[in-house]
Amino acid sequence: MTLGFPYGLSSRRPCRRRAQFVVGLCVAALVWLTGGPSPVAAAQSLPGDLSADVEIRSAVTFHLDAPWTGPPPSRVSVLFGLPHGIVTRRGRAPFEIADGRLTASHRWRPRGTLLPGADIEYRFEIRNENGTARTSTSSVTYIDGELPWQVQSEGLVDFWWYAGDDDLATDAADGIRSGLDALADDFGLELRRRTRLVFYADGDRMRADMGRGTRPWVGGVASARFNLIVLHASEFDWGRSTLPSTIAHELTHIAIEHAVGEPPRNIPSWLHEGVATVVESSVAERFSYDDIVDAAFAADRLVSLRGLTGSFPVQSTGALLAYAQSNSFVKFIIDRWGESAITRILDAYREGASQDRALRQAVGLSLSALEAEWLATLDRSDAEPTDSAGLLSTAAAFALPLPQP
Ligand SMILES: [Zn+2]
Repeated sequence: MTLGFPYGLSSRRPCRRRAQFVVGLCVAALVWLTGGPSPVAAAQSLPGDLSADVEIRSAVTFHLDAPWTGPPPSRVSVLFGLPHGIVTRRGRAPFEIADGRLTASHRWRPRGTLLPGADIEYRFEIRNENGTARTSTSSVTYIDGELPWQVQSEGLVDFWWYAGDDDLATDAADGIRSGLDALADDFGLELRRRTRLVFYADGDRMRADMGRGTRPWVGGVASARFNLIVLHASEFDWGRSTLPSTIAHELTHIAIEHAVGEPPRNIPSWLHEGVATVVESSVAERFSYDDIVDAAFAADRLVSLRGLTGSFPVQSTGALLAYAQSNSFVKFIIDRWGESAITRILDAYREGASQDRALRQAVGLSLSALEAEWLATLDRSDAEPTDSAGLLSTAAAFALPLPQP
């Protein structure tokens, strides 16, 4: 499954909403490029002009206009996919030959959600009896062309926005810098590929651009395979106090996935969100996670960590508790074994280890044993974690907590 972590708004108050990022995962999202890599055979180089039209919310049409002599080809195709050749698809392109030129087009209607801001690479391939010829590769950004985008870079991150004053860019740059510094200094983590951060001032438009099926509570989406984070940030009050830490949180998810590499591994949510909340808190405190955990175990509401390996609840205090427990548990590991333990766990995942094996390799204990020790530090060694199955949504994955419990 392709990774994605949307977050949504807990409540939508159009006149005075803050940038409230809640969560959920669009499972349907990001499933548009599931084909395997195309076979790469020796092919001639074909000169030609490539272009692409983006119809945001519906389609991308790829065009080829190339000089052509001789008999018509047997087949013209377009190969397209994510940058870095992670996945590739092929589509048949009907063609015409006239006045010594071959023109061909393929209109692609992505199924699932194609995130605005995604880059798509493409090239054409022509087959005839003499063999196969391919054009060079071009790329197109799937973006809402009616908005006056501004672009700025900070390190390996490009961020795009179309409304709001310079403070937004300043705070975004600050969040990117702070987040990347914390990831590098504390965990030795870094982005391995250029990553794009796209801000929408209009949440409804953002959700519409994400495509049909985007839930009304979604406040953003992040995907490591797309190297992309899309966030709703209101033009009037876009959450300045929390924007840098929110960005640091989301960049952590991308950096973790980059560290583990391809194919994506099934990294447990408690680890993803635990590290993300630790990095987020090093930039600015968004939530009093310790207080939330204290209150939960005082009320005997702690959730089993095995219940926090999959998707988190989308909303409600249950979601916030899931983050708070993840934060507490990861801090416990760091306090006991140091930040390098997190690196060792991720190294084990990169090599394909299961959860228990990764933990045993990194710290010598299974998840259950670790959980017992963690509970002991909370003075709750006799606590019985409750069954969390009912709390978890199979449709949600990496989420950001609600700003208010
Ligand atoms: Zn998260």
